[in-house]
Amino acid sequence: MNIIRIRGVEFSACHGLNNFEKVEKQPFIFDADVTADFYGAAKNDELLQTVNYSSFCKMLERVTLGNTFNLIEKLAYECAFTAFEEFPQISALSLTVWKPQAPMKRKFESVGATVEMRREKVYLSLGSSMGDKKKYLDTALEKLSATRGVKVEKVSEYVSTEPYGGAAENMFLNCAACVSTVLTPHALLDEIHRIEAECGRVRDKRWGDRTLDIDIIFFGNENINDERLTVPHRDFMNRDFVKIPLKSIAPHLNF
Ligand code: ATP
Ligand code: CA
Ligand code: CA
Repeated sequence: MNIIRIRGVEFSACHGLNNFEKVEKQPFIFDADVTADFYGAAKNDELLQTVNYSSFCKMLERVTLGNTFNLIEKLAYECAFTAFEEFPQISALSLTVWKPQAPMKRKFESVGATVEMRREKVYLSLGSSMGDKKKYLDTALEKLSATRGVKVEKVSEYVSTEPYGGAAENMFLNCAACVSTVLTPHALLDEIHRIEAECGRVRDKRWGDRTLDIDIIFFGNENINDERLTVPHRDFMNRDFVKIPLKSIAPHLNF
């Protein structure tokens, strides 16, 4: 693993819940561990093949000075999202924002918020069996693209398929998508539920007709099994309408 370490980068800026914090500057200090493969940079002694720490710090400065947030949690997330958007070489990041002069009436050294993020490749299956099905799939992909921390990398062709499971009556339109994300699996599921709801999804009959369904088939190499999420998807192996579009965009996947 290759990590670029940055410590104690300080900016004077306005973030905080109190009104006076929104106009009076105070110090915010950043520590970052930036994971990026710099083997090529080391081999060729070439800056362009690694994450330029000076550019990284300029990005931190731009986000910190260009905004006024209530919370250091928000500032940390904003910087982390921007880092992944602007530096494609970054595969993982641990970023801490310290606020040593936070207005707390006690003696303390500092308070901080740490965000840890990793870029993962995720495979989704999308389906629609009501209304303008193509429009729902198009809209779902647009909404995924517009979601902070999610990038749509590849989409299969849309295929018309028979309903599955006995409850739905209409034909389905299905596709598979590969997205890269820095969200956690559960945060991505929350965003998926938001997008389904915005597309008019009503959950009544299991496997019934629906405007939009988005299932997480794979999330990196993760195995998850809790009350909200099973990954890999528990039933995808029995579903040609999932496997065929998925194979078409990711022939290297073994299933
Ligand atoms: P199926 O999951 O068999 O395709 P469905 O898609 O019709 O059925 P939904 O009503 O969309 O089922 O989802 C029910 C719940 O399944 C969701 O609220 C979610 O918490 C849970 N779930 C578990 N694993 C996954 C997954 N891999 N992708 C999406 N949702 C999942
Ligand atoms: Ca489903
Ligand atoms: Ca679903």
